[in-house]
Amino acid sequence: MHTYDVIVIGAGIGGLTTAALLAHAGYSVLVLEGHIEPGGCASSYERKRPNGERYVFDVGATVFAGFNPGGAHHWVGEQLGITWPVRPLEPAMEVWLPDRRVVRWGDERWLDERRTAFPQQAWRAEQFWREQETLADIAWRFAARQPPVPPETPQELLRLGLSVRPEMARLLRPMLSTVGQALERHGITDQRLKTYLDGQLLISAQTTHSTCAWLYGAVALNLARIGCYYAEGGAWSLAKTLEAALLRDGGAVQYRQWVEQICTRNGAVTGVRTKRGDVFTARHVVANTTLWDVAELLDTDPGWRLEQAVEDFPRGWGACMLYLGVDAAALPNSLAEHHQIIRSYAQPLGESNSVFVSIHPGDDQRRAPAGQRAITVSTHSEVSRWWRWRKADPARYREEKARMAEAMLDTVALAMPTLRQHIRYMQAGTPTSFWRYTHRHRGMVGGLPQLRRSSGLLSLGPRAAGVRGLWMVGDSTFPGQSTAAVSQSAVRVFQAIRRS
Ligand SMILES: Cc1cc2nc3c(=O)[nH]c(=O)nc-3n(C[C@H](O)[C@H](O)[C@H](O)COP(=O)(O)OP(=O)(O)OC[C@H]3O[C@@H](n4cnc5c(N)ncnc54)[C@H](O)[C@@H]3O)c2cc1C
Repeated sequence: MHTYDVIVIGAGIGGLTTAALLAHAGYSVLVLEGHIEPGGCASSYERKRPNGERYVFDVGATVFAGFNPGGAHHWVGEQLGITWPVRPLEPAMEVWLPDRRVVRWGDERWLDERRTAFPQQAWRAEQFWREQETLADIAWRFAARQPPVPPETPQELLRLGLSVRPEMARLLRPMLSTVGQALERHGITDQRLKTYLDGQLLISAQTTHSTCAWLYGAVALNLARIGCYYAEGGAWSLAKTLEAALLRDGGAVQYRQWVEQICTRNGAVTGVRTKRGDVFTARHVVANTTLWDVAELLDTDPGWRLEQAVEDFPRGWGACMLYLGVDAAALPNSLAEHHQIIRSYAQPLGESNSVFVSIHPGDDQRRAPAGQRAITVSTHSEVSRWWRWRKADPARYREEKARMAEAMLDTVALAMPTLRQHIRYMQAGTPTSFWRYTHRHRGMVGGLPQLRRSSGLLSLGPRAAGVRGLWMVGDSTFPGQSTAAVSQSAVRVFQAIRRS
């Protein structure tokens, strides 16, 4: 039987980035993906209708960062000699609060915009924004030096030490506090500003100001400043670009191959077994799955770190989705491509009170029939009741899914009042749909809430499973969610395997 140097479970952006880098460095690499397309949560799907109309919908991720110098996608692109199919977005998005619209510019227009949008405590808010940007800039420079966070070996501890700079002394206090505590220190009580921040943190850190780790939050709030991008042809073109590099460099990908066991002997990985009954052996296995899935796939008990995280780490959110084909006439030309819309200040975010809407740019003709736009709408949703309904009461599940779709459309209407009358195609999804396509634990997506106890130095590193030769990559590990973050985690695994 052929033994690979590396088997990668999952062709998400984290798995594919690791695989492409290793193949480029001369390793024999096999990627096993359960679904029929690469990209995982950052993929797209094609819908062909009986009338011949064709859409390409982004399944989850729609706004991408990390393509500027210092960003992980940028570094990976240079290593692999590839050109990413992306174009910059400006503004990054528009945020619709119940009584005002905030344009999230990436450039200096943001300075005026934030003063005008939140006049109530403008001076205090300005001090907050300045601290946020300073922290983010220091953290960004640190990340560009590719430090091994969290360090897992004495050598990594040394390398981490060597990447520390005096300016990082300013990160010490923020590392111990939450965004909420930073707001308190600045004396900010403005509910509008807090709601704006909560909306932005929910989509980038999976939690809101009272619990979000301040350092992570400062970086997450900086996304527009470091540059946001659209993926030409849809999100899946990022994964397809990585896949092409992998194949070019001699790697292989097998689709419809769900791995059901990670095999070990004497504390070291030996390979994997798939649902079809195929067994593949390898010196290294890279799991591009959630931490809960790694623990379930292992044929042995995980090490203490993973065992502890399985018990203690905060559970993630699920997402309810709408995929819409809409007459372009319903959307003014001046409308930005991405919108976060919040219906009420009084209600918690998620569960249709906050939605994220991504409209494909009209000039990308691969995405929708002429005169139409392909739109992805998402809202955060707690996963367990969807599973309860799905299993115990399918009729209720269908009812709730339809109700959620209506509620999401009501929220979208606050920014796009005529959209509902112009829908030509609509498909809805729930966390159980995400589970069906990605097998992520209970359909939880978007990574882990970035609390102080689960972020930064306390997040999971690639060796967290505690099995020799088994590496974890993706949004359960440092630094967390987003394609840029999972690329950073892939770079870490690539470097660790090369040094091992
Ligand atoms: C609704 C939504 C919106 C988002 N918006 C953004 C955004 O705008 N920008 C952004 O950067 N990020 C966004 N994200 C987050 C981002 O998509 C993810 O953090 C990132 O794509 C995760 O990548 P990953 O490599 O960790 O794993 P995944 O994307 O989860 O990929 C894992 C892959 O492994 C496969 N797999 C799993 N188990 C097995 C198995 N046992 N055998 C074989 N294959 C397996 C899955 O099918 C999947 O293809 C969003 C996510 C969601 C859900």
